[in-house]
Amino acid sequence: MNVHDSERLSGLLEDAGYVRATGDTDPDVVVFNTCAVRENADNRLYGNLGHLRPAKQENPGMQIAVGGCLAQKDRGEIVRRAPWVDVVFGTHNIGSLPTLLERARHNEEAEVEILESLDVFPSTLPARRESAYSGWVSVSVGCNNTCTFCIVPSLRGKEKDRRPGDVLAEVRALVSEGVSEVTLLGQNVNAYGVEFGDRYAFGKLLRACGEIEGLERVRFTSPHPRDFTDDVIEAMAETPNVCHQLHMPLQSGSDSVLKSMRRSYRSERYLDIVRKVRRAMPDAAITTDIIVGFPGETEQDFEDTLDVVRESRFSNAFTFQYSKRAGTPAAEMEGQLPKEVVQQRYERLVELQNEISWELNTELVGSEVELLVAEGEGRKNTETRRLSGRARDGRLVHFAPGDDVDEIRPGDVVHTVVTRAAPHYLIADDGLRSHRRTVAGDRWEVGQRPKTSGVSLGLPSFGEPATETTTEQGCAC
Ligand code: SF4
Repeated sequence: MNVHDSERLSGLLEDAGYVRATGDTDPDVVVFNTCAVRENADNRLYGNLGHLRPAKQENPGMQIAVGGCLAQKDRGEIVRRAPWVDVVFGTHNIGSLPTLLERARHNEEAEVEILESLDVFPSTLPARRESAYSGWVSVSVGCNNTCTFCIVPSLRGKEKDRRPGDVLAEVRALVSEGVSEVTLLGQNVNAYGVEFGDRYAFGKLLRACGEIEGLERVRFTSPHPRDFTDDVIEAMAETPNVCHQLHMPLQSGSDSVLKSMRRSYRSERYLDIVRKVRRAMPDAAITTDIIVGFPGETEQDFEDTLDVVRESRFSNAFTFQYSKRAGTPAAEMEGQLPKEVVQQRYERLVELQNEISWELNTELVGSEVELLVAEGEGRKNTETRRLSGRARDGRLVHFAPGDDVDEIRPGDVVHTVVTRAAPHYLIADDGLRSHRRTVAGDRWEVGQRPKTSGVSLGLPSFGEPATETTTEQGCAC
């Protein structure tokens, strides 16, 4: 969500006439798009702002803007703590950034503008896409749930759904420019339709994506077990371009912890969905998020989580040690656990999950995989002379390209055979079975990226050659 918002900020600034600072050019404008979900986001922001202070003193015309969740939370506090910041904007008014920059320049004073609710759906704003082959498309923003550890509802507001026609128009527009993979985004995609009264809207949307020619892979994040309906599983299984990958947050396997998290499903409901997904799609890769050490979590509660992990056999899990987020109900709860207990449970969970991930990955050795070649996924690729790609189920595969190495571009599609497994990736060292050049690969090669001009948007246009990607890592909650 956060990464996609950054694409919109880039698109807005480009439309306002700004160009990206390249290489060693000092930028005239620096924008921080912040995320408040992780614990040390505040420290990182104020640390980064501190680092920029000398540059600002040297070049007083430079402008610094801070937006996103942390700005929505800290508001005027940001310019009190860092008076050299020029603009603060929130999650509901990212479209105001160019105007605020101009106003701050003109008035020679800081502009702080935070709205309490959305003025326009963010997808009506232009977005400068970072990837030539894979695009984010929002189906909704905000969340109507009230999980006690989560800051999102207070910073992103109530759920707002986009009309299916607008979502599909954006998907088609991306595909017409060569994008072959789309990830539908929402804080709780299974609740999609709540605003316009159709609880089966998300399954229908997946099926409608199946009708779009040229769209090879559809993913989505994140579903919520409470609102998960069987028709979504059926749509996943029956729509050929929907990937058999499900990222479904568990958070805890203990019913009493789920209750105090105010997650309105129980472990049996969660496992029931997992079983149905496995029956409908035996090849599905299921991943999850788990919080360890929630206030009041007992050893038995933690054991219950381990049991659900054993039974679910996740291909991967994003595991977090609980940490207080100011402004959330859980931060005030009794029974906050000592760090050593949380750490020790966390290590046990990671060890178990790594074993399962490794076992599942090992089962894939010898099988053929279709990979969408990715950019920047393998840090050791220069050493190993491998390239990287994502399989249809989302697994990361580092592969030896053989003699085709110079021919293969991010966005192309290759087939190869898995030769080795590690817990978090697969290796395919026996060369390629096939390589398909794609339009996305052609566009990548000449540095073009799609730039959607806002929905109901008609056609996207192409932006200038891309330089560096600088986005904060988002979170899946
Ligand atoms: S954890 Fe997810 S479902 Fe719960 S309140 Fe936060 S965004 Fe909503």
